[in-house]
Amino acid sequence: MQEKTITYELSYWERESFFQDIDIAVIGSGIVGLSAALRARELAPSARVAVLERGPLPIGASTRNAGFACFGSVSELLDDMDKQEEDAVWALVEQRWLGLQRLRRRLGDSRIRYESWGGFELFRPEEKESATRCAEAIPHFNRMAHSITGLAETYQLANGRISEFGFNGASQLIWNTGEGQIHTGEMAKALQEKAVEAGITIYHGLSVEAIDELPAGVEIQTGFGWSFRAGSALIATNGFARQLLPELSVRPARNQVLITTPLPGLRLKGCFHYDRGYFYFRNIDNRILLGGGRHLDEQGETTDEFGTTLLIRNALLQLLRDVILPGKEVPVDSWWSGILGLGNRKDPIIQQISPHVVAAVRLGGMGVAIGTLVGEQGAEVLLG
Ligand SMILES: Cc1cc2nc3c(=O)[nH]c(=O)nc-3n(C[C@H](O)[C@H](O)[C@H](O)COP(=O)(O)OP(=O)(O)OC[C@H]3O[C@@H](n4cnc5c(N)ncnc54)[C@H](O)[C@@H]3O)c2cc1C
Repeated sequence: MQEKTITYELSYWERESFFQDIDIAVIGSGIVGLSAALRARELAPSARVAVLERGPLPIGASTRNAGFACFGSVSELLDDMDKQEEDAVWALVEQRWLGLQRLRRRLGDSRIRYESWGGFELFRPEEKESATRCAEAIPHFNRMAHSITGLAETYQLANGRISEFGFNGASQLIWNTGEGQIHTGEMAKALQEKAVEAGITIYHGLSVEAIDELPAGVEIQTGFGWSFRAGSALIATNGFARQLLPELSVRPARNQVLITTPLPGLRLKGCFHYDRGYFYFRNIDNRILLGGGRHLDEQGETTDEFGTTLLIRNALLQLLRDVILPGKEVPVDSWWSGILGLGNRKDPIIQQISPHVVAAVRLGGMGVAIGTLVGEQGAEVLLG
């Protein structure tokens, strides 16, 4: 069935009471958009700040992710160092670490259900070479990470815990003791509550189609056929950024996720990366959340359309049954997908696009960690 687009005009009342005098319009209500709106409000307490979100809730990544509060596994960082300067890699680790501390301070650990069970990287027997390289890198990585995390030993070999967690087909486990996990839904809800408390208006179901520069502000064209003026705009649409800013180097990438039914006696606790980070899983509410596998169909998953596919569903099920909970029949409760914003580089884009428009996009797979800072820095550029 073809979707019918509703177009209409704003009434005098709607225009005067809701869309007049908006000083700062933030597009997108994910972690970046709401953090930007909150920071804008702090910097300009009398400004009228509105967030325009096309979904009933944010529908991108911020309510659909895995909730890993992580800043870097050894193999990922080594891989990054093969492609860029080591200093740049540690600078990004620091951004992630600081972003996480900022998120936790802003919302509170109990509100977002932060748990410091650590992040783990599992190696398969066939990854012997990589496992050895990663194990050898640990002493140097701990020296480098110390100045960021303050921990004496951020990374530790934890092979003894492979049997404790009950995994099959894993030959090495590296524990990142500084990582944790959050409840993604509670984080998004807490951010919304903070925004409302701060006097920020969030308009849901309002898609922005274009932003035109004016001499003293912007004209925001909505999907309903009407437009309104605002002082400035911050675009925080991440994986969908190209719809408004085709010139930016951001590509959408879908990630598929499953969650099991509650599993009595589940021993596993923490956030786990498997097969070079292409798969990830964690415990939550006595269940396992498992996602990834995008590399199995790189082309098909380079999309901003939601949905799951048989190929990736089967790969996730196989991993669940063969490696994570071997020999057990594990019922899946539900599936979903989310859309990442990726680029050829891992750093986010925080960029002045035109005199009254700033973009804060391309969060990659680490938006829980860096989203708060990226949103805040975007607001600082907008108001700077
Ligand atoms: C399945 C999955 C698992 C992940 N796991 C983790 C993890 O464990 N740890 C981690 O750190 N990161 C993870 N990430 C990445 C992280 O979730 C993202 O980096 C982060 O949420 C991005 O936040 P954002 O606010 O930039 O974008 P989003 O949350 O995608 O928000 C963008 C918003 O813009 C809205 N929008 C788009 N176009 C328009 C428009 N034209 N008009 C109005 N609104 C619009 C969308 O509806 C959306 O709500 C994961 C991502 C996915 C998809």
